[in-house]
Amino acid sequence: MVKKIIITIDGWSSCGKSTLAKQLAKSLGYVYIDSGAMYRAITVYFLRNHIDWTDFREVDEALKNIHLHFEYNVQSEQSEIYLNDENIEYMIRDLVVAEKVSDVAAIAAVRTCAVAQQQKMGKRKGIVMDGRDIGTAVFPHAELKIFMTADISIRVERRYKEMYAKNPNITIEEVKSNLEMRDYIDSHREVSPLRKADDAVLIDNSNISMEEQLDFALKLVAKVL
Ligand code: C5P
Repeated sequence: MVKKIIITIDGWSSCGKSTLAKQLAKSLGYVYIDSGAMYRAITVYFLRNHIDWTDFREVDEALKNIHLHFEYNVQSEQSEIYLNDENIEYMIRDLVVAEKVSDVAAIAAVRTCAVAQQQKMGKRKGIVMDGRDIGTAVFPHAELKIFMTADISIRVERRYKEMYAKNPNITIEEVKSNLEMRDYIDSHREVSPLRKADDAVLIDNSNISMEEQLDFALKLVAKVL
């Protein structure tokens, strides 16, 4: 039987983690899980239901009513996130969600809930998961860990293009300040802050193409296998 492994990809916001994760999953026939989509979906629930997330009892109650799952969309060739059976993929990257998600993701109970589901998804291996704490907290024993970074100006430009396509009113300053704010909160929170696992391989993709990046990562996979 072909050996299947767990591949984790962590790193700063908008440095191409999901692009590499999707490419790897496709090349290897693995499942791709976007853990950030789960935190974004929980944030959507909190915002819609006016949950006061500074009140831990309210958070605990709300989490009991949140059911998340992913479904593969053949047309978009992507796994899409469902919140209580509603497909909310189209709204999770909006600025209103991006502005609050890091605060929500810093709450211990939220992380416990999301991490437990993520660990279940990795039970059978053959998975590529991207996020902020996947190599450090979710799968500390993963066979291959990647940590990605890129110049802030490049990251801002990438995310701006993506967001502008959906909302032409957005400004580059808004995108930049959101990325910087999320990176700051994500790397300074108490529970599982964003950091490179000691055994993660660093990829700076500021000046390499997507093909070069994939080629490099596939070589890392071949070494492990
Ligand atoms: O990956 P993405 O940018 O969609 O993630 C959105 C936010 O979700 C991050 O800025 C971070 O606050 C949170 N997140 C996290 N842990 C993960 C994935 C995402 O805290 N594993």
